[in-house]
Amino acid sequence: MAVDHHVAIIGAGLSGLGMAIALRRAGIEDIVLLERASDIGGTWRDNTYPGIAVDVPAQVYQFSFELNPDWSRIFAPGAEVKAYIDHIADRYDLRRSIRFDTEVLERVWDGDEQLWRLRTAGGEVTARFVVSAIGAFVDPKPAELPGLADFAGKVIYSSRWDHGYDLAGKRAAIVGTGASAVQIIPEIAGRVAHLDVYQRTPIWVAPKIDPGTPALVSGLFRRLPGSQRAVRELATRAVEFVLIDVVVRHRPIWTRAIAGALRELWYRSQVPDAELRDKLTPRYGFGCKRPAVSSDYLRTFTRPHVELVTDPIERVTPDGLRTADGRERPVDVLVLATGFRLASDPENFRRTPVRGRDGFDLATAYTEQRLTSYEGVSMPGLPNHFMMFGPYGWVGATWHQLVESTSAHIVRVIGEADRRGATSVEVRPEASRRWTERMRRKLAGSLFNTNNCATANSYYFDHHGDTPYLRPTSSAHAFAASRDFPLDDYRFSTVTAPATARSSA
Ligand SMILES: Cc1cc2nc3c(=O)[nH]c(=O)nc-3n(C[C@H](O)[C@H](O)[C@H](O)COP(=O)(O)OP(=O)(O)OC[C@H]3O[C@@H](n4cnc5c(N)ncnc54)[C@H](O)[C@@H]3O)c2cc1C
Repeated sequence: MAVDHHVAIIGAGLSGLGMAIALRRAGIEDIVLLERASDIGGTWRDNTYPGIAVDVPAQVYQFSFELNPDWSRIFAPGAEVKAYIDHIADRYDLRRSIRFDTEVLERVWDGDEQLWRLRTAGGEVTARFVVSAIGAFVDPKPAELPGLADFAGKVIYSSRWDHGYDLAGKRAAIVGTGASAVQIIPEIAGRVAHLDVYQRTPIWVAPKIDPGTPALVSGLFRRLPGSQRAVRELATRAVEFVLIDVVVRHRPIWTRAIAGALRELWYRSQVPDAELRDKLTPRYGFGCKRPAVSSDYLRTFTRPHVELVTDPIERVTPDGLRTADGRERPVDVLVLATGFRLASDPENFRRTPVRGRDGFDLATAYTEQRLTSYEGVSMPGLPNHFMMFGPYGWVGATWHQLVESTSAHIVRVIGEADRRGATSVEVRPEASRRWTERMRRKLAGSLFNTNNCATANSYYFDHHGDTPYLRPTSSAHAFAASRDFPLDDYRFSTVTAPATARSSA
């Protein structure tokens, strides 16, 4: 049977587009990107809430091969990231390979034909190889608020902001104090008549040093690209130190010093009221949850029309929110910033199943077994299938580093399969086990296990109690590994006629 495409990529966000560029560069042209939405950009297409910006310096949040000299400031706004992604798609002529409004509802490995059958509402697409680029935060988590359906006011999800709705003069409430809420709260506090902020878990917030980029600097970057590469390199190392080194090579003295400085200097300077400050100060250690940066978040709670509510929400009523202490606060507009369903949540794959070899089912595997992968990219049971972000895969200071190393790994495997004329390639279980165990050993001394994380309510911990997201190595190590992992860790097979003669190497 003729296969529709050599490689199908699911998702056209940064990962899918980065993967497509890597394949094209390797001379693999027969690719398709299947995207459920009508536009590219994933995260940066969907999240347009007031105040959205990158939480790491924009100089770091870009591909090494496509530096933008014109980021307007250190923490560029989301719209600039979306424009950067649009630029990438145009520059590398990727749009012609994208099929929009095409959600992959099911992926099924056909061992007889040695291809993947991808079910979409518009019919089946077949591909020899599949790359899952569905992101880390796949869907907004449904807000588990009893009575929400009966609320008579306006509901706005942070990831689907309604820019047509005028907040001026409204009584607003926001549920959630995670990374999105930290950006939204100061912005909308300036527009509404009253704002209630419902907090379950406080967040560590550091001051945001965010000057604009002087024209002189952009000009220098344009004339001397090496200068921008050097800045990116330095900034990347600094961010990687905070986000990875401090976490993985945890020394309690570091995190205690950071938390102490934030508490005693920053929080104290922003929130003079001791009781309010206490409620805003996390009890868990710094780093258990991804910290946020903002210079106006904490101060917003000192405004007279902003109230921090820490009593648990009992239910949403038609007119407002009632907390466990029996108090009801009236609300015109309810903003839900309650987070996302992570890529390893089995629920994603109950909704859009992934069925591999010999009855392997990804939702069942994620439910019943601790998460494993090989280099965060592949998994036994799923031949010819790769993930841009698999268990223990999130490396480095930014997503772009992950995309560049993961795509290099995948291109190497597909290229080798093509060179050998193999029809399928699957990671060997022992290689996956070995690699995963190495990652778990490295994480054993990480701050997740040694820094009082129990109350952090952090997405770094999965439903098994493991922390399978961060790759506990440097990005330099991940890059090197993507180029020199032993190809023998994969089993290459050739089926010469449907389900008959099979040879393997
Ligand atoms: C609000 C928010 C802010 C963030 N800010 C930062 C930041 O400042 N710094 C940082 O490093 N990271 C940040 N992140 C993480 C961010 O998600 C990554 O940096 C990066 O954008 C992920 O790109 P991606 O392409 O892997 O995933 P996404 O951007 O999520 O794209 C995945 C794409 O796959 C599509 N898709 C999913 N399922 C299917 C399916 N079944 N069929 C077809 N298409 C499908 C989606 O529609 C989407 O277009 C943020 C995330 C969020 C949610």
